[in-house]
Order: sequence, then structure tokens, then C-alpha cells
Amino acid sequence: MADRSALTETPTLSQAHSGIPSRLLHKAERAKALVFKGKTPQPQQQQSLPAIPQGVSRATFDKAITDLTNQLGPENVELNDKPPKDDGWYMEHPNTHDMMNVTGSDALVASAVVYPSSTAEVQKIVLWANQYRIPIFPISMGRNLGYGGAAPRVRGSVVIDLGKRMNKILDIDPDDHTCLVEPGVSFYALYEAIQAKGYDHLWVDTPDLGGGSVIGNTLDRGVGYTPYGDHWATHSGLEVVLPTGEVLRTGMGALPHSNTSQIFPYGFGPIADGLFSQSNLGIVTQMGMTLMPNPTGHESFLYAFALETDLAQVIDIIRPLRISNILENVAQLRSAVQTIAVQGRPRKDFYDQPGPIPQSIIDAEVSKLPCGKCAWLYYGMAYGPPHIRAYKLAIIDAEFKKVAGARRIDPATIPKDNYFWSRDNIAAGVPDFEELLWCNWVPNGSHIAFSPVSPIRGKDAERLMALAKRRHAESGIDLFPAFCVGLREMHLIVEIVFDKTKPEAREAAMACMRAMVDDAAALGYGEYRTHLALMDQVAGTYSWNDNALMKFNERIKDALDPNGILAPGKSGIWPKRYRGRGWEMGTGAEGVEGNGVEPETGSVKL
Ligand code: ADP
Repeated sequence: MADRSALTETPTLSQAHSGIPSRLLHKAERAKALVFKGKTPQPQQQQSLPAIPQGVSRATFDKAITDLTNQLGPENVELNDKPPKDDGWYMEHPNTHDMMNVTGSDALVASAVVYPSSTAEVQKIVLWANQYRIPIFPISMGRNLGYGGAAPRVRGSVVIDLGKRMNKILDIDPDDHTCLVEPGVSFYALYEAIQAKGYDHLWVDTPDLGGGSVIGNTLDRGVGYTPYGDHWATHSGLEVVLPTGEVLRTGMGALPHSNTSQIFPYGFGPIADGLFSQSNLGIVTQMGMTLMPNPTGHESFLYAFALETDLAQVIDIIRPLRISNILENVAQLRSAVQTIAVQGRPRKDFYDQPGPIPQSIIDAEVSKLPCGKCAWLYYGMAYGPPHIRAYKLAIIDAEFKKVAGARRIDPATIPKDNYFWSRDNIAAGVPDFEELLWCNWVPNGSHIAFSPVSPIRGKDAERLMALAKRRHAESGIDLFPAFCVGLREMHLIVEIVFDKTKPEAREAAMACMRAMVDDAAALGYGEYRTHLALMDQVAGTYSWNDNALMKFNERIKDALDPNGILAPGKSGIWPKRYRGRGWEMGTGAEGVEGNGVEPETGSVKL
């Protein structure tokens, strides 16, 4: 039986920085009940905790923790010395490891968690880590699920949970349409703050779920679903603590007394911001973000395409429409099976045999939904006043109807509890809470994402689908594909849902992921983002000119982080102290912990 004692009420935003807005509490409670219904007892962990990082003796570690506790206060340093009774769920997640771990529950775990309250305290932590050569790993909210959650890449790292005490919205400028946030500000919190101020004219570009932080999502190059879409492209100005403890501001923020940091991202000279995205070169303590003007009108639409083989034609129709902004947002072309799964019901309700779910069952089930029998669903939104929308929607309709059997589903026929209305909220900048319901497909449902980038071309979509289908069939895993269409490219997001308590399910998921990454790279496609356990492999696919990019990254890493303390191994970038010691995962000599670190020769004096 699941641990029912964990079924307390979900914290709201007024109770926790990571809480749910009251308006969404009913959705959270429903989702939580479904998650706990699907839980089976979690296997007892064999690990001895705390996990002491390599190269540090227990005595040094204890001394270092005492020192950190003296500096930050006992309430702000927590040792991770007890295995969790329950991993919780999205809204009440652990900050010591990946709630949806694919590597087993004791591989990528923190030794301790520390809660700074200011940039100055982050600097103190960094200096402390250099002194004791203890790896540290920053998280904002730790909800980067599918990509590693709160887990550090190096076992025994001290996780810096920035969000708990650094969660202020420092500024919302209603004229410039910008904001300035600390790491613990979620999309939920930002949206609610904007509403509370009555700024109806400001929109937040929100991802599928709003519980992640604006900073964490942006640094990992996540997307939202309004026309702003690309979070990295719409940020402006970072404040960063370097691995050696200095603080810098990028862009216009480098100019003392500047009032343009949130409106012009570049400043003067080389653009440093890129060094801090998907990186292990700095800890971001503040970020400016642009906000979209309310387009004064919006309207969701949904098209159903009958056959799986319609994919190429649909994608080729999307490309010119998207590039010319007739299709205005990062829209999604989702498979019918995911539409079935997002209802939150387990797979066994539909099919209780091993191997991928048969097409005949998918067809029968999707026929019962408002979209009717189909293979693909396109969720989009038109923006602006009615006459502008009508102009664009007419073009979209004419183009999509060129596909034989394409149907526009009239939103008036879609019940209000259907997932369509969740997409409607998200595309209108209103953070929602439904997306991860498809994790309930299997007991203890967890997910990991394969996310290659390709041109918006039918033949590319077909090639990627073919390889994903082949590898899923080999691994006996149901295929959940969705194409997220950017402006000139698209990401195929394939979510593998697995039971994290079953070693064979985790292994199958990883085998399938690893095979897809290699297959895709052989065809010239690379991932835009990946899970911690796949970072070495994915980084290895970006190998042009004898790994010139990785050599460059390593030189910068060694220059900025001479003691190799900040998130070693993140994005496949290992500091000198770890390099060549077999830490890379999935590249042959599988190693979570490699063969230790360079013997202690004294830390580099800063
Ligand atoms: P979210 O806040 O969306 O839940 P996470 O906290 O899980 O995101 O972080 C996502 C990724 O971004 C992780 O790899 C994490 O190390 C990195 N990251 C998050 N916040 C920061 C930060 N403030 N500075 C540097 N890296 C960060």
C-alpha cells in the first residue's frame, strides 16, 4: 500500500514558495490522489547515508558541515542522512534526489542541502566548497522532472536549494513589460503576483506546468506556449555568482546605476549570458524576464488528423505557417495515445499485456473522446482582436484541410474538464496543472524525455518517428510522441513513462533512450536538453572537429572553476579533477562514481 499518511493537503502559494495557487488546488488534489493511488511500496534503500562525496574523508566532511552550519545557521543546513519514506509527488517533491529517478534511488543523491538567503550567502557557500573541495549543485525549485529533478550529477554533492529563501519578485514593470526575479519564483507565483497587482495587460509565458521556477526553466532552455515561447530568448540580464565566489551582472546590468538591464539583454562586449545556460559555470541569483503584452483577444483551436501517415504532410503545412507567424505559438502536434493517457487513467484500464499497446485499442479509446478517432492532434491558439484572428484562422483552416480527413474540432463541443482547456489556459499565459497526468499510465509512473531538434519538415519528422518507434517496440514501451514547433525548428518530445520501482523498467527506459540518442545523432539530430544520466552521451554527440566544443568548454571550466566544485559533470563538462577517471555515464565504462577524483594536493587558493 502507498504511504497514505503522505496524503496531507497540498501547500498553497500562501504557505510555501513552491505551493499551488488556490485557484488550482482542486486540480492538484485530484492529481495527487491519482498519483498516490498508483503507488506501490517503495523498495527499501540499501545505501548508507549521508553519501560522502569522493575525495573527501568522513571527518573532513563532518568538519565542513559544522563550519557551514556555523556560517548559515543550523536551520539552513540539512544533512541527507535518512532514506525518504516516500518520494512525494510533483507539488511536494524531494530536494535531495530525482523523484523520478531512472538510475535507482541511491545513485544521484545529495549529502546535504543548504538554504542561502542572499547572494552574499551564495558567495559564502561557494567559498566554503572551494575550501573543502566539496561539490555543490544549485537548484531553483528542483522540479526539472524528466531531466533529473533536484538530483546532483555527482553523488554526495551538497545541493544549494536557492528557491526556499530567495524567492522574491524584485520588480514588475507595467510599462516596460518586464520583471526581475529570484530563483524561487515559480511561474505560478509570478502569474498570481501580476494578477494581484491588477496588471491585466501583462502575460507570463508559462510551460506545461507552472511549478518550476522562471530561472531554472529559462537556464535549462525550457519553452512556454504563448508567442514568446523561447524563455532563454526572452530573458534579459543575469546576476551570477562564479565558482570562485565573485558576483557579476551581465548585459546592461554591468553598468552601475543602469535602468536598462531588463529591456536590453546585450550590454557591451561579448555576451556572457550563454555561459550560464545548461552550464556549470555560475549560480544565477537574479534574472530579468520580459513579459508579453496582452494581445486583447485569443482563441484556441484543435485539429484532428486521421492517420499516422498524415504526419509528413501536416508538418510540411505547419512550416511556412509557423515561420510567417500565422501559427503564432509554440504549438503542439500530439499523438492520440498521449491524449488518452492525459486523462490520468492507468494503462491497465485499457490493456493489461506486456509490449506496446495495440493500435486497435488506441483507435477504440480515442474514438470515445471529443476529438474522435484520429492519430494526431494539433493544439494551437490565435491571438488578437476578432478580425485579426478570423483572418489567420481562415488560412490555417484552408491549409490543414488539405490533409484528407482533417477535422477542426469545435471548442464549443469540448467539455470543460477536457485537457483542451488546459492547453487553452497555458497558451493564454495562465499556468495550469494537468500535464503530468499521463505519468499515471503505469504504477509509480515516472518519465524521462528524448528531445531531438529537427527542421520542420515532413521527412525529418518521419525519420525521427521511425527510429523512436523501432526502439520503443524493441524495449516494449508505449510511444508518447509530441512535436513542439518553434519558429524554424521543432523538438520532438518523446516521453518514456516507466515504473521507477522496477529495475527492469528503468533499464528498458534507459536502453531505449540511449539507443534513440545514438540513432538520432547518426542521422544528424541532437538533443536540445537532456537528463543528468544522459548528459555525457549527448555531449559526446556534439563532437564536430575532434570535440572542439567540449575542449573549449573544458578550458573555460578549468579557468573559472579551478577546484572543480560547481556541478561537476553537468552537461557532460567535467572539471580537471574528475576528467579521465571514468565518471561518464553510458559511454562504455558505465560509471556513476568513476574512479574517484584527483588525489588531494590542496585546493587552489582563491
Ligand atoms: P525548476 O526551478 O524549473 O524546477 P531546477 O531547479 O530543477 O528547475 O533546475 C533546472 C536546471 O537548471 C538544473 O540543472 C539546475 O542545476 C539548473 N539551475 C537551476 N537554477 C539555477 C541557478 N539559479 N543557477 C544555476 N543553475 C541553476
